[in-house]
Amino acid sequence: MTRTPSPATRFPAALCVALLTLLGAPAAAQHTTIEFFTHDELALHWWVRAEAERPADLQAPEARAAIAALRDYEQEGGNPMLVWARIEPLLLAGLPLEDAVLRSHARGMPERYYNDAGGLSPEEARTRLHDLKPDPRPYTDALDALRPWYLATIAPAAGREVEAAIESLNEYLAPRLADCYRDACDALGMTDPGHSVPVYLVPSGPRPGAITYRSRTGLACVVALDAGTDCQGAGLDLLVEVILHETLHALDFATQEQPTALQQLRAALRESSHVERLRDLPHTLIFLQAAAVVRDHFGPDHRGYGELCRYYQKVPAAIRALRQPWADRLDRHVPLPETVAAILANLDDAERAAAERNRPTATQPARPE
Ligand SMILES: [Zn+2]
Repeated sequence: MTRTPSPATRFPAALCVALLTLLGAPAAAQHTTIEFFTHDELALHWWVRAEAERPADLQAPEARAAIAALRDYEQEGGNPMLVWARIEPLLLAGLPLEDAVLRSHARGMPERYYNDAGGLSPEEARTRLHDLKPDPRPYTDALDALRPWYLATIAPAAGREVEAAIESLNEYLAPRLADCYRDACDALGMTDPGHSVPVYLVPSGPRPGAITYRSRTGLACVVALDAGTDCQGAGLDLLVEVILHETLHALDFATQEQPTALQQLRAALRESSHVERLRDLPHTLIFLQAAAVVRDHFGPDHRGYGELCRYYQKVPAAIRALRQPWADRLDRHVPLPETVAAILANLDDAERAAAERNRPTATQPARPE
């Protein structure tokens, strides 16, 4: 099993730009490109994480043991999202899971745990693992025991599924990618930095099935093919939206110094009484924008992840504040400052209405706390 990721494909759009430049044609504006990768270790680990969320009906004892060890590790570690957010970027960078766990503990730990210059030998690293809380060894041992069964029974078909998806995406998404990023960047007020964003495709994963990591090794998106497949109406357009959504996170990270819509929104929220919306409001805007791009360039009837997978139901205040101002921005090119002001005005209105509803009336005196 290879641990070093290799590019599965590179979009031909980049090649076209290079050829046009060579031929003396005016160079097209640089746009973000996507480079797909596969990653065997992450695929295995995400498979266990995905299975751990399902009712336990797996017959293989190795699989059941790995799921149990994962659950214990997550339970001891606190929030699983945060636990894995420290470890998985290091796994993507090519470290075996044990090393990734060890190094994820490096920050704030004595030098002896982590030697940046030379690193620890695998034997040294393993002996140090017993000092970690939670102890990752039961899970890494369970993964080692699971690997042969996984490679024989799950990996072959899963690998073919990923290869087929990459082929479909190359035919379906790649030719329209420049248009997608042009429109998204126009709407979001971004100057496209023209980076190549690595997207790791794995067969299955824990909900929501996709994440973007920013680490010292750079930005990387991970997308599971089963992201949203339990949502009604899921299909290739939903997968395209999830990929675009994640790469918009990468674009957002890469344009933090620009006065983008997301940055203007964050600045306005910080100065308002709605500072608690700093996460869900810009994030919901990314959902709206990714869905809009899919509607414009793939399927006009596409309903979007937020609706199909009921994400908007989780953030009712954010979607109510954003929907109309963002539709106006997309339809009528309303300038960004006005759009941001309209979103904040919607939040103010909702706050006033809520205060009005909660105001004690003469016939309903406030209950003492
Ligand atoms: Zn997101």
